[in-house]
Formats: sequence, structure tokens, C-alpha cells
Amino acid sequence: MSKDKLDSLLKSLVRKALKLELKADKSALAPSCESKFGGLPYAESGDHWPSCRTCKKELTFINQILDEEEQQLFVFYYCNECFPWGLDDEEKGQWVVKLYKQPSSKKLTDIKRSSEDEFAPVPCSVETTSVEVLPDWESLDSVSEEVSDLCCKVNDDSPWEEYEDAVERTGCLDDYATLLGGYPRFVQGEAEFVCPKCSAEMVFYAQVDSEDEANIMWGDVGLVYFFRCPEHKDEFQLELQCH
Ligand SMILES: [Zn+2]
Ligand SMILES: [Zn+2]
Repeated sequence: MSKDKLDSLLKSLVRKALKLELKADKSALAPSCESKFGGLPYAESGDHWPSCRTCKKELTFINQILDEEEQQLFVFYYCNECFPWGLDDEEKGQWVVKLYKQPSSKKLTDIKRSSEDEFAPVPCSVETTSVEVLPDWESLDSVSEEVSDLCCKVNDDSPWEEYEDAVERTGCLDDYATLLGGYPRFVQGEAEFVCPKCSAEMVFYAQVDSEDEANIMWGDVGLVYFFRCPEHKDEFQLELQCH
């Protein structure tokens, strides 16, 4: 009885996400408007390669993700020397997200580093699939207290097992992955941020997993999460978590 209730409650929490799967691919070296890892980034006239404000070295271009729904391209640079975690007291500019509205090959401009990048990811093309995602146990409470209460009622000793079984029954994605949208799957527990401009709670935008194929490793097999202000859509916050 409670299990049926749990299953139907979970259905209402399901969100769609885009899952990115990588394949090492020399054609990803060239700049493009598509989702990809490494190689040269998408840039537009007036852009130059961003440098870290702390160590002054040029940032590493990690990846870009095409958000077809919003017709925008998310481009992510990171400083592997300073290795920011997204903490409050970190200097700004150790990572950069650029958001391009309606990216196009007409607007595309080449930008290049002046130095070699020892941390450069292996260029990878990306295949996307639409997946369904549920919150992880850590963040369930803030999404639906009803569901977490129900899990506790059914299995007081280990409610998270009850929840994980229920997630498995839904057929939703049940592993770490690089995702656009959906829910974050945390390694270390929930993260919350407020917009520096308007103090609104930021919402999950994307997560970038450690990706073997691109030779990207966030600490010890961690992930990088991005949150965004619902109002100020180019206001992002990064959080790195690892084991
Ligand atoms: Zn740096
Ligand atoms: Zn805001």
C-alpha cells in the first residue's frame, strides 16, 4: 500500500534531463556551436581567452553544453592550478562560465591560448540522450518532505534503501553522469546558493562528471555542479564535490 503511494508520489517528482556521453574525437578540436569537451571553445567577436585572476594563468576550457530549449550555449573554463571548490572565500575568476544566446557558426570567432595547456581535456564529441531523473536521498527532504517521511514510515531503520528501491522501480537514471537539467546527484550532500544580485535561491543547472574519455578528474572521482539564478540567467555558482 505504502509502496504504491510512494511510487505514485515519485512519478510527480520526475524531471527530464539531458545526459551527455563522451567519445574521444579529433573533430571536436575545432570550435563549434555543439556540445563538446576540450579542443577550442565557442567564442564570439570581442572575446579573448580568459585568465585566472589569482594565478594569472590561462584557464582550461573544459566543455560547452548546448541548451536547445533555451537556445544558448554554456561554456565552462576552469583553473586547474588554483582548483576552486566554489567556496565563499575563494577569489572570483578561478572559473568562468560564459553563456551565449543563439550561438551560430556565423558569429563564431576563433580564440586561442598563448601557452600550451597541460590540463587540456582530450577533445571529445558528445552524444545526448533524454533521461528521467529523481532527486537523490540527500536532497529529497527539500524537494518533497512527504516522500522522505513516507520512506521513514515504511522503513524506519534505513529509509534511504526504501527510497533507492523505489527510484529503481521508476527506471530513472540511477548513476552519476554529466547532465543538463534534472536534479543534481551529490557526492557529499546538498549544496544551496543564493544569487549575489537578488538573493533568490539558485536552481540546479548542470553537473559535469569526472570523464575518463576526456581525461577529466575532479579530485577523487568527483563532480562539478552548476546552479543558476532563476531571474539573472547568466549568474552561475559552481560547487565541486569529490569522495
Ligand atoms: Zn588560478
Ligand atoms: Zn538573481
